[in-house]
This record gives sequence, structure tokens and C-alpha cells, in this order.
Amino acid sequence: MTSLLITNIGELTTHGPQGTVQHASLVVDDGRVAWVGGASYQPATDARLDVEGRAVIPGFVDSHAHLVFAGSRAVEFAARMAGEPYTGGGIRTTVTATRAASDETLRTNVARLVAEANRQGTTTIEIKSGYGLTVADEARSLRIATEFTGETTFLGAHVVPAGTDPDDYVRLVCGEMLDATRQYARWVDVFCERGAFDVDQAREILNAGAGAGLGARIHANQLTEGDGVRLAVELDAASADHCTHLSGADVKALADSRTVATLLPGAEFSTRSPYPDARALLDAGVTVALATDCNPGSSYTTSMPFCIALAVREMRMTPVEALWGATAGGARALRRNDIGHLSVGARADLTVLDAPSFLHLAYRPGVPLVHTVLRNGEPICTP
Ligand SMILES: [Zn+2]
Repeated sequence: MTSLLITNIGELTTHGPQGTVQHASLVVDDGRVAWVGGASYQPATDARLDVEGRAVIPGFVDSHAHLVFAGSRAVEFAARMAGEPYTGGGIRTTVTATRAASDETLRTNVARLVAEANRQGTTTIEIKSGYGLTVADEARSLRIATEFTGETTFLGAHVVPAGTDPDDYVRLVCGEMLDATRQYARWVDVFCERGAFDVDQAREILNAGAGAGLGARIHANQLTEGDGVRLAVELDAASADHCTHLSGADVKALADSRTVATLLPGAEFSTRSPYPDARALLDAGVTVALATDCNPGSSYTTSMPFCIALAVREMRMTPVEALWGATAGGARALRRNDIGHLSVGARADLTVLDAPSFLHLAYRPGVPLVHTVLRNGEPICTP
């Protein structure tokens, strides 16, 4: 057992019973939060970290990222900014590059992106497959993902590979591909969208995944209205992600469910598309998470602070709602209660900001405000 006193915290956000504590201390014991309160409490500990009045928040939980890929789509991005619409078809470009890449190339790329995310305060990240789309390439994508996170998601149903019959492909995903990937995955996901998989195909795939012990999550209602969100609720999926084009019935269904609405404003930013109506969701009582959707085509950012700034400025979330969504909301979207907050007993995953308050995350967009990041009480990033 090792213990650590973090003291002289200017503003501590716990998302727990203590709420926000000004001039705080926090004690870590054996990787967990053991005590939270005023800075005058100075117990003897093995180590001590004086953060000199900085703000401390729970580490970000990025519950939606596609990190196992090769190649770049910067040219496609430039074309889109010059007026070409986003259709999702560019996924196939990344599939070709990913299949051609060595394990080592893929691993190095994931490592680079995870390190980038950590430096921006992320302590838990979900990683999806979905750029292999063969049995062998999906299995190796997930095998590599497990080297970096326990939150791995089988997304064989990202898009139907070129030259493949859609029904044949759904059978492959539900059969041989699921068999080869289930040992490396915690979750199963489907891109339910016109041009990708319809709601019946999505239901078949998510049910097959559930039969293999995988929890359900879904890309739903990103580009068009549809039945994806209601399918998520029907199946008690942990999360419906994107939620950009929702009907009133979709919002109500989410509000009456355990399914989290995970908003990915980096995607709307990078595709110059209308943002989801976060206010309608929050005002209806839906649990809202924020995540990066980091991927090379439609949202190539690992920055949760950037997503918070977008959520506040573009989606009219309050800074409090945005921080909660990026931490506790992400944890809910992964059905985790040990992360996303700093209550006693939680994992000591926390981010020290080079700012007096978490408000600066939205107030000072684009500025690298992360000072120190601890996971399980151990530093993973230091100044
Ligand atoms: Zn995605």
C-alpha cells in the first residue's frame, strides 16, 4: 500500500457527495481515493503532491474512439472544407490502408494517439475496431486495442466492405467474425445509418454480440433521422452515440431509459454539420456524455477539452454539464461506477489543470491546460 496526499487544490470537482470543494486536499491510498476535504487536513502519507492552487477534476472518460487505423485523410478533409459533403464513404479508404499495415504500424499509431489523449487529461479511453472488416483484420485490431484499454469494442459492422453482399456480410459479422473477436472485446457496436446498416441488421448484430457476452452500443442518428436510437433503448444499449438527428419520440425514449446519449461534437465540427440539440436532451432528463469520436475521417482529435469547449459554445451546454458529460457521463456510457468521479472509493484517476477552475476548459479554448495526470494514483503525465 502506498499513500499520496494531494494538497493545496484550489478547486476540486468530485462529482460525488462532496460536490466541489474549494481549497481542498485529497488522499490516495492504494490507487483509490481514500479521503476528500479541506486543505488543512494533512495526514502523514508516503508521498505528497502540492498542486499550488490549481484545479483538479476527474480524469476524462473518452467513451468513443476509433484508434486502430493506418493512413491519413487530410486531403479528404481539405476537400470537404472546400465544399464536398461528408457521406461516410471515406471509411473504405482507411480500411484499405489498415489492412495493408503491419501490426507494428497499427500499434505505434494507437500508442501515439493514446499518449496524446493522456496528455490532454484522458485517463480512460474506449477503442473500437472497424477498419479491418475481415475476420483476421478485425481480430488483430482488437487484439492490439486490448494492449491499451479494457474498453474495447467490436465494430465489424462499421461499413459493408466494397464488393461484398450486405446480407452475406452481416452473417459473417454475426458468425465467424464475432467468434474471432469476442475474446478481445467488451462491447459490440454498429454504424446504423443509411448507406451502412439498417435497423434490422443492427438488431441482429447487437443481439449476436449480446449472445457472445458483449454489451451493446450503437452509432445512431448521425447523418439522418432513423430508428437507431429507439433500437438502442429497446436493447438497453449502454450508449447511443451521435444523436444528431432526433425526433421528440427519440428524446423521450432516451429519457425513459438507462441508455446514455453520447454526443460527439468533434464530428460536427470536422464535417461542418449541425450540432446535436444537447439542450433538448438535457432538459428532457437524458444522461448526456461527451466523447471525441477520434478517427481519421470525420473527427481527428483526441482532445476532450476541445470537445468541452465545443459543447459549451456550440451546443449550449453549461460548463458544469460539459465537464460532467466528459467524465461521469463517459463512465455511465461505459457502465462504470469506479471512474468519472472522485468520491471516496473511486479510482484515483484525476487531472490537475494549469488553471484555478475547470471553467477555463471552455473559457480558454485551444490552450493546453493539463498540468499533471494521475491514473490509479500514479502519474502518467507530468509537466
Ligand atoms: Zn464513431
